[in-house]
Amino acid sequence: MPSPLTFDQLALAAPLLKAINEVGYEAPSPIQAAAIPPLLKGHDLVGQAQTGTGKTAAFALPLLSRIDLALKRPQILVLAPTRELAIQVAEAFRTYARHLKGFHIMPIYGGQSIELQLQQLKRGVHVVVGTPGRVMDHLRRKTLRLDSLQALVLDEADEMLRMGFIDDVEWILEHTPENRQIALFSATMPPPIRKVARRHLQNPVEIKIASKTSTVEATTQRYWQVTGTHKLDALTRILEVEPFDAILIFVRTKNATTELSEKLEARGYACAPLNGDIQQKLRERTIDRLKKKKIDIIVATDVAARGLDVDRISHVINYDVPYDTEGYVHRIGRTGRAGRKGEAILFVAPRERRMLRSIERATGQPITEMQLPSRKDVANRRVNQFKQQITDTIEAQELKFFETIVEQYQQEHNIGAGEIAAALAYMVQKERPLLVEDEKKAVKKEYPDAPDRAVRSGRPHKKPSRPEIGLVRYRIEVGLDHGVQPKNIVGAVANEAGIDSEFIGHIKLYDTYSTIDLPEGMPKETFRILKKVRVMGRPLNISLDDGRPARKPPARPKRTGKPRPRIKKSKVQKS
Ligand code: AMP
Repeated sequence: MPSPLTFDQLALAAPLLKAINEVGYEAPSPIQAAAIPPLLKGHDLVGQAQTGTGKTAAFALPLLSRIDLALKRPQILVLAPTRELAIQVAEAFRTYARHLKGFHIMPIYGGQSIELQLQQLKRGVHVVVGTPGRVMDHLRRKTLRLDSLQALVLDEADEMLRMGFIDDVEWILEHTPENRQIALFSATMPPPIRKVARRHLQNPVEIKIASKTSTVEATTQRYWQVTGTHKLDALTRILEVEPFDAILIFVRTKNATTELSEKLEARGYACAPLNGDIQQKLRERTIDRLKKKKIDIIVATDVAARGLDVDRISHVINYDVPYDTEGYVHRIGRTGRAGRKGEAILFVAPRERRMLRSIERATGQPITEMQLPSRKDVANRRVNQFKQQITDTIEAQELKFFETIVEQYQQEHNIGAGEIAAALAYMVQKERPLLVEDEKKAVKKEYPDAPDRAVRSGRPHKKPSRPEIGLVRYRIEVGLDHGVQPKNIVGAVANEAGIDSEFIGHIKLYDTYSTIDLPEGMPKETFRILKKVRVMGRPLNISLDDGRPARKPPARPKRTGKPRPRIKKSKVQKS
């Protein structure tokens, strides 16, 4: 669980707080709450923590708070076991330091041109992140000088030991100034790592995020190993086949709650975000809507879901891994309530497998691996739902009038009832295919220009091209999910605004909105009319397109039942 502390209470430098807020971190993770204060004070530190606990920010934030930007010499050195980790840590530093003017960081690792590294080092950097071998190389050549070094971080020290770098690490430690601060992070503490700590660290503060054992008996636990499939695609496939009542999805950041919630909404789920930035009143309303079945899914951060107690939550999905086992137990405790059985699903990236094992150990229960539902599973489910719809209609509706029409048709055309029923079924389902193609491939095949799914809603879309000369790109608030086709838009714009259809340029459809290129110099009056014009029953609410993230679609009638199958994408490109 993240601690009840807020970042503001941690005395970090203001530009860093600003960056964290933009990234959407809501509260410090336990390792951050414990490590940031002593590191800010300059203490040495030994932290037993693995990937996924937020350890990178736990050292990056306090150390960055203390650097002198005017001094363009390496003040922080991070040693990491692999090139991937070095790059990842450097990226995290860049994110947190985005408001530190003139900040420079440099990852150095083998396999990269040493010339390039030399040039950058000469230009001056504040932070170096590197693998031990290459760092040693530069120290020997005196191309890297550590006389201004304030702090040294050993990240994943046990991995460095396992990979045979421990002597190099010691050598580097011996070539750093005496008063530098050292932070050592390691998932495990084998004796050689303890020895390094004893020899080189001075009165280190020791932090270990305790993993309490707890039982979670009412809940069946599964995990999905994140592989090539995008997490969002995996989630939507699971949602399609998993029988659920209500679902609580956990993500790490505030931004992720809104982004994911919008994406699920665009796919037809009755869904809402819950995060600490949302006012208490609105949060309570959201929870109430979940209770009253007005929505079925909540996407929340740990902080916002504290104390959330809704009996109908049948599933907890850990879309992002929790920070520690205690956090996991808290999260899945939101299901399996009031004597019901709960289901917990955890998405685990290969690097987070250690967290999976710690959770199993702490809960004393195995978490079984789940396979993603196949396309066939999804199709079967859709077919079954379709059949159920037929049954429900036969049971609940007065069909006499339609029976007469079908009989008439049969006689007029000498066609069997089966064929007529098939044609009707086709008409009903043509926008909602029962057979599932690989969605990504299908979209690409149909519209080679379509941006990737990840940017089709939620985040700012990449402009596929510029509008032609003389045209301006506008955004309108109707998209694929509302069943729109380019012809509907052309028709409405041409008729209502009096713009001849030959002057209407490209139209691109996205999930929740579309873009349209129209002639420059549109009169104010036309603009005003176009704001109000309705297509598929929705006001276009036209605005200049500036690639902003998709706005939250205005509330539409919610289905309280299960998701509708995906709407088949229609032709997108108007040429
Ligand atoms: P790490 O354990 O350093 O590899 O971090 C794992 C992930 O957690 C990274 O994607 C971070 O961006 C994210 N993260 C770290 N701290 C926080 C926080 N306080 N709130 C939300 N996400 C965080």
